[in-house]
Amino acid sequence: MRRPLLLLACLAGACATLPRADLGVAPPELARWRDGVNWQDAGKEAAQLLSGYLQVNTANPPGNETLGAKYLAGLLDKAGISSEIVEFAPGRGSLIARLKGNGGQKPLCLLSHLDVVPADAKNWAQPPFSGLIDDHGTIWGRGALDMKGMGLIETLTLVWLKRLNVPLQRDVILLAVADEEVDNRGMQFIVEKYWPQIDCSHVVNEGGMGIRDAMTPGQTIFAISVAEKGLLWLKMIAHGKAGHGSTPIPGRAPDRLLDALAKVRARHPEAIWHPSTRETLAQVGHGVGGVTGYVLTRPLLQDWLAEGQLMKNPGTRAAMIDTVNVTGFGGAEEPNVVPAEVWAQLDCRLLPGHKPADLLAQLVQIVDDPNIRFEVLYQAEANASSWDDPFYRALARHAVAGKPDAVVGPVLSPGFTDSLRLRPLGVRAYGFVPFATTQDETGGMHGENERVSSDNVRDGLKVLFSAVVDVAALPGQ
Ligand SMILES: [Zn+2]
Repeated sequence: MRRPLLLLACLAGACATLPRADLGVAPPELARWRDGVNWQDAGKEAAQLLSGYLQVNTANPPGNETLGAKYLAGLLDKAGISSEIVEFAPGRGSLIARLKGNGGQKPLCLLSHLDVVPADAKNWAQPPFSGLIDDHGTIWGRGALDMKGMGLIETLTLVWLKRLNVPLQRDVILLAVADEEVDNRGMQFIVEKYWPQIDCSHVVNEGGMGIRDAMTPGQTIFAISVAEKGLLWLKMIAHGKAGHGSTPIPGRAPDRLLDALAKVRARHPEAIWHPSTRETLAQVGHGVGGVTGYVLTRPLLQDWLAEGQLMKNPGTRAAMIDTVNVTGFGGAEEPNVVPAEVWAQLDCRLLPGHKPADLLAQLVQIVDDPNIRFEVLYQAEANASSWDDPFYRALARHAVAGKPDAVVGPVLSPGFTDSLRLRPLGVRAYGFVPFATTQDETGGMHGENERVSSDNVRDGLKVLFSAVVDVAALPGQ
């Protein structure tokens, strides 16, 4: 059938539809654990404790994560939960704590990082390490979203499991690691030295969160990251004869670099739909209904009518193509010297299934210049976890419970987290901070005025605790 006919047939209802997600139901007897908490009081306690955590300066570099690990260890200790701080270097500690279950299933791991990126106080409305709680209940501080807020509610999830003496069918492990923001040495150290005793089947970590008014006003999309793009960090180095700047001579290194970059930037890769993108758009469609809903729930119409929009938005575009981003230059000497070597730095991110070596070969071919060579700084393949999974469903159903204007779906993250390292170990890793934020608030991550509302901390704790109970509590007890 020709394309216009296909489109007509589809508009007439004759093409495949993605169904509303089945998020399952929790065993009803487990609801009593959730109902056993006074969430208003638990929320107030969580806000105060987050304020304290944000005051612990773990800006990396230098990190000083042991201070943050000790803060969380203190909260656990008060609840009678022992923990261990392990350092890969002096002051660079990570925290491991465990609530024992009956071993019926492999452990569930709640992961966060203790370090935060630095903050320049002069650009903030409130000091970045103040942990100030303002009159609106907003908690200010570097790490509020990335990711001390999550680390705190993970810690309190263990605390509440212990306070209520919830019988567990699996161990629940808290892991708060150092150095995520710079070299991932905290996680590397844990994987090398401690993984055999952790060996969890599932991890919840950062990656996705809830965004208010993300696509349509009034609708909150809770995005659970199930996949992360791979990476290829490159130096593209141009060579030529050195010389005097007064007389341009073709073929010199800086000109070659410019030409090569122009070729690289002229590439227009085709959009490739990751299944998670289709699925989440379909859930958005089921939420909004009407004509938009009709289009978004049908893959064929997604291709024809939504792809252009997705490719225009840098955030969604990055989830549909292998990106090559120029992030820096080097090699210049004096203004009047043409150097023999100059370089550009490239940050390339790859879709699942695409190999770094193949993209490198493509770039070599596109540039097609024997005087340009590439140096690989770092590479890793993308990976993904299935969202046909009880823990995914538990996170998803509690994220939207009682919120008629919210939808939830899986996403492919353009950036990577420690989860990229864990999936090859057989772990199902989900990136999900269960806060419903505005786009302005998410701009605070690695930016200025990072903050989170007390309501988000309270609701996020309830979502996480409830999801953990659903998959870790012993049913029938
Ligand atoms: Zn982070």
